[in-house]
Amino acid sequence: MLVLGIEGTAWNLSIAVVNENSVIKEVRYPYIPHKGGIHPREAAQHHSGHIAKALRNIFSQIDPSTLDGVAFSIGPGMGPCLRTVATAARTLSLALDIPLIGVNHCVAHIEVGLWKTDAKNPVVLYVSGGNSQVISRRGRFYRVFGETLDIGIGNALDKLARYAGLPHPGGPKIEKLAFHGSHYHSLPYVIKGMDFSFSGMVTAAQNLLNRGISVEDVCYSFQETAFAMLVEVTERAMAYLERDEVLLVGGVGVNARLQEMLHIMCQDRGGRFFCPPRELMGDNGAMIGYTGLKMLKTGEKTRIEDSTVKPNYRVDEVELPWM
Ligand code: AMP
Ligand code: MG
Repeated sequence: MLVLGIEGTAWNLSIAVVNENSVIKEVRYPYIPHKGGIHPREAAQHHSGHIAKALRNIFSQIDPSTLDGVAFSIGPGMGPCLRTVATAARTLSLALDIPLIGVNHCVAHIEVGLWKTDAKNPVVLYVSGGNSQVISRRGRFYRVFGETLDIGIGNALDKLARYAGLPHPGGPKIEKLAFHGSHYHSLPYVIKGMDFSFSGMVTAAQNLLNRGISVEDVCYSFQETAFAMLVEVTERAMAYLERDEVLLVGGVGVNARLQEMLHIMCQDRGGRFFCPPRELMGDNGAMIGYTGLKMLKTGEKTRIEDSTVKPNYRVDEVELPWM
């Protein structure tokens, strides 16, 4: 089976064709803001300006008549971006007369992680720009055991970076600077029940910069505090669910320090830590194509009239008949 997947919920317009075993071809057209963070309308204009070229690029290698379905990110994400991608996916489905599959973006991050690692039924730490959740599957649904009460960890890193005068995306730059930090400065460690919060930490870190603390030390302190919160909640979910596997997914998951902290926590508990290859952690078309393929195999399709985008679609709303 061959499925084309289109991702475009936020910064990355990415299209891929996958089969059961591998990614056959993938193209990426990332949107990089001129200044500030991601502007939804500008990102959507970027996606619509590049989507024809992206498809031509894919079809230069893959015969469209060999495709069995077209999958797209139906949500969650930025409304204007989601609508642009959905329009392209509907058009392809009608023109090629093949099924349309609306894929939940968060489920796709997890599915690609399960596809590319040996994790069976892990506690998932999903950390990206807009989302931060601790998730695990119970029966045919993913359940959220803890999540951010305000902004995603990626968004928090991007905001702090912007304040420090660093260009978007800030996460990778903060990681580099943090590596050279040595002095820990206390920041609010906010966990309420199993949920966490980052926006107060961003303000407190900005105040440290205003007080003249070096940007390296601020980045270091920020990473240590925020990641410790995420690891604590992940560990508590493992204890509660009696699970011994952790799967890290989402764009922030490429961070070496976060991986190291999770690895140490798993080792201490006699558990195992997994993460998919780097190129499949941030938003990508392959994860949408692969999840679409799994859905299609169990007969899941999206009728055109039901393909309205869902900007607030939650991971725990999706039934998983393939599980
Ligand atoms: P996603 O939405 O899953 O594609 O993730 C995008 C987010 O990942 C952005 O907020 C980036 O700043 C963040 N990110 C990318 N690389 C890193 C890194 N090395 N460390 C921390 N965050 C990162
Ligand atoms: Mg994402």
